Amino acid sequence: MLIPARMSEAEEQRWVSVMLDKLAAQESKRVLGDTELSERAQRLSAQYFDGRARPASVRWVTNQNTRWGSCTPSEGSIRLSHRLQGMPEYVVDYVLLHELAHLLVPGHGPRFWRLLEAYPRTERAKGYLEGVVAADRLPHLPGVRGE
Ligand SMILES: [Zn+2]
Repeated sequence: MLIPARMSEAEEQRWVSVMLDKLAAQESKRVLGDTELSERAQRLSAQYFDGRARPASVRWVTNQNTRWGSCTPSEGSIRLSHRLQGMPEYVVDYVLLHELAHLLVPGHGPRFWRLLEAYPRTERAKGYLEGVVAADRLPHLPGVRGE
């Protein structure tokens, strides 16, 4: 952060806390709730899979750090890692579509990937997520994490 010169320490503390509040407010605005997430999944299913994937529940989870998303086809439930929050929409959409596709086709065979070919940004989203994983392994590079 750039801090204007000649601030007292108390002023500086206050300024930092104001900036952090602003950042937190921006962050929370970008986060979809579980309801919006379900609506988004429905729209994506309609657009790319003729509405054939019908999840019973779609929600964020915080206990999933090694996978971006998961689904239980027998329950029709889809869970997305909270680590996706704040990432570009096309990345979140890709993970949603990926899990929706698993409601139709288990595993990652050719039939599965053929379904995802309908989404034009599959490769780009996969590249983005691979970049995030790579950046996570380099924790000492400032500014790289999550972008
Ligand atoms: Zn998968």
